Amino acid sequence: MMEQDRSNLVELQRMDLKILVVQQRIRDFDPLLGEVEEPALVLESDSEKTRARLQEMNLEERQLELSVAEKHERQKRLDERVGSVRNLREEAAVSAELEMVKRALQNDEQEALSILDQIRRMEGRLEELDEAITEARGFVGPRLEELVSGRAAAEKELEELEHERESFTDVMDASELRLYDGIRRGGRITAVAALTEDGACGHCFGIIPPQFQNEVRHGESLIRCEGCGVILTLTDHADELAGVTEAAPDAATGEESGAISAEFSEQEDDPAEPEAVEDNPEADVHQEVSIEVADEDRADE
Ligand SMILES: [Zn+2]
Repeated sequence: MMEQDRSNLVELQRMDLKILVVQQRIRDFDPLLGEVEEPALVLESDSEKTRARLQEMNLEERQLELSVAEKHERQKRLDERVGSVRNLREEAAVSAELEMVKRALQNDEQEALSILDQIRRMEGRLEELDEAITEARGFVGPRLEELVSGRAAAEKELEELEHERESFTDVMDASELRLYDGIRRGGRITAVAALTEDGACGHCFGIIPPQFQNEVRHGESLIRCEGCGVILTLTDHADELAGVTEAAPDAATGEESGAISAEFSEQEDDPAEPEAVEDNPEADVHQEVSIEVADEDRADE
């Protein structure tokens, strides 16, 4: 009887739920790490773009300066020619050209001034950005370190839990372990549930036929719920299992957990049981699979 009370399965499930919780905790670090680094990354990208634009404008400004110098040269030559014209017609032509060059020169100079002004403002902005980046990096550094060490601690904890599980399963009954692992292989969380006092499955609340209820109570063979496929244990373990399923991470049980467990809670008034349905949504998802497994298993018996 001692070896057949399935308490090992209950304990194994407790361990596996702890492992799931820690795995989720490790995953939760990823978005946090991204969040911490983001402000500095945004500033850096902004600074990079500003720097590139500044380079373009400096180039533009240099070209304008060359153009201004060239026009000054032309103006000088035209001024000289005005002094040596031979007739009025020639004078009119040179004057007209001189006028045009002067106007173009004015435009170039105006544009160069405007670009220089923009360059100055952009340099100021860049300076501000670089200061903000230094500040952001200063903040990110310690926070990043904190997150990275937090994740490392969680990874270490996971390693220990996995080691603990290994030692535990080494001495477990092989058929219990094989069945348990088989049920969980498809991603199911709950593989073990208590038989309720009124003879229902503690996971899906389907009624268990009396002959199977007796087998569960006497621990003669591994009995699974026909509805959801979990291994049924004695009612005595109900409290333990309730505690375990309570610890199950919501994220691992699927999005729709609220609606479905609420529905089950309404149907089930037994105060000892509601926790056992906390992770019920995955029964919904894996129903098909587990029924197949269950049938296959029944055929073996
Ligand atoms: Zn069931």
